[in-house]
Amino acid sequence: MTITTPPITDPAALASLLEAARRELPGVRLLTDEADRESHRLDETAYLAAGLPGAIALPSTTDEVAGLMRLASRHRVAVVPRGAGTGLSGGAAGIEGALTIVLTRMDRVLEIDRANLCVVTQPGVINAALKAAVAAEGLFYAPDPASYEICSIGGNLGTNAGGLCCVKYGQTRESVLGLEVVMADGTVIRTGGRNVKDVAGYSLTHLLVGSQGTLGIITEATLRLRPAPPPRSTLLAFFDTLEAAGDAVAGMTEAGLVPVTLELLDQQTILAVEDWHGLGLDVSAAAMLMVESDAPGTGAADELDRAEAACAASGGRSIVRAADAQEADWLRQARRLALRALERQGTVRMEDVGVPRSRVPELLRAIERIAAAHGVRCATFGHAGDGNLHPNLIFEHGDPNAEALTHAVRDEIFRAALDLGGTVTGEHGIGSARREWLPIQRGEGAVAVMRSIKAALDPLGILNPGRVL
Ligand SMILES: Cc1cc2nc3c(=O)[nH]c(=O)nc-3n(C[C@H](O)[C@H](O)[C@H](O)COP(=O)(O)OP(=O)(O)OC[C@H]3O[C@@H](n4cnc5c(N)ncnc54)[C@H](O)[C@@H]3O)c2cc1C
Repeated sequence: MTITTPPITDPAALASLLEAARRELPGVRLLTDEADRESHRLDETAYLAAGLPGAIALPSTTDEVAGLMRLASRHRVAVVPRGAGTGLSGGAAGIEGALTIVLTRMDRVLEIDRANLCVVTQPGVINAALKAAVAAEGLFYAPDPASYEICSIGGNLGTNAGGLCCVKYGQTRESVLGLEVVMADGTVIRTGGRNVKDVAGYSLTHLLVGSQGTLGIITEATLRLRPAPPPRSTLLAFFDTLEAAGDAVAGMTEAGLVPVTLELLDQQTILAVEDWHGLGLDVSAAAMLMVESDAPGTGAADELDRAEAACAASGGRSIVRAADAQEADWLRQARRLALRALERQGTVRMEDVGVPRSRVPELLRAIERIAAAHGVRCATFGHAGDGNLHPNLIFEHGDPNAEALTHAVRDEIFRAALDLGGTVTGEHGIGSARREWLPIQRGEGAVAVMRSIKAALDPLGILNPGRVL
């Protein structure tokens, strides 16, 4: 899939920037070898054609990031902010000849503030490491993308990452109290702090989270914590049709249930996960729901009883519960690895559509119909409790028709999601992969407002050009 490539940075401008950086910013690691640059060309959206970065910079302080942005402005060099590079929209993929700034060396948890239930962290900390650091203090950081062991907090903020517990705890944005951000010209600003309530001026925090490195580079974040919830209780329900599973999701929402996790796996995904992990899942089922509760006391059993009733009412069969917390952990880990399980079977092109939760059954039906009409193998799993599904198109490695078919199927699925009042991306972002769909979904008026904001904050257009807008 080819994207509209942003202008190539003038090699002489980059050379001048690098020369100045070596002189003025001796602490910044600079990589210019072709192999190093090549390894930063792609994120996990491997089917996108991305540019080869001209150089990679690895700063370790906010001052160094600010210095790099001042130089980028002075020399008019495009910059790609990058975390761990696990994104699924091409947001951190290379731009030909540009400077990629990788934040992974800024990897310290700076302070766990129990009195204010928050943590101050640098962006390069891996999500799982942050969770573990606060868990050691009896606290809980909620955002939980399936990639939590490999993605960075900066990337989570850049994409407003979702994951497996948004039904109850929301996306990353809901856990952000404040940011330190380096703007395009190198100015450093703070957008909030430790206040739970703070309505002074426009909410720049909300604007910057999810802006995919196009408006500023996040160098520190103050994130909301919660007291650690009890270990989770887990229920699995198997269904004869995808639609019945979708009905059960709608039924649970209507019944007012707010489980911590409500995930759906279709038969292809169940088969792939079972093939890899041998968990004893019912591979004859067309779909499986995984429901988790972390309610205290008898609340969890009550919540799962009500979830079981909703599943049974929609034709769920073989409804089982995890024997203990360890079995629940295995099941959750297997779900997290669903994409990797499918990747063992071919080249996978993952999508990320969303609809209002009551319309999940219709979206599932549309995905099935569209993939079948094009004769493409499609495995769907996702965060059904949020109305956010990942249809995965699977091709033989090297299939010459893969690109054309991906385009055709994906466009029809996007159209179907929009017709249902949904979105072309629930959590992975527009990035460079879905850019042409932004005006179709949001409308030209809204996109014009976004362009004005971009022009105000990044008048030279050097921050991640060609992404989102
Ligand atoms: C197996 C697998 C499972 C996944 N599961 C989920 C899931 O459940 N939910 C989900 O939401 N995503 C998921 N993802 C996608 C991905 O992990 C997330 O988007 C994650 O937030 C990206 O983090 P990263 O550190 O890899 O960021 P990168 O890919 O490096 O960057 C992502 C975006 O953020 C920007 N960015 C990075 N750092 C900064 C910064 N410091 N300041 C400003 N902008 C920045 C980049 O420019 C880019 O646009 C999954 C990916 C994989 C491979």
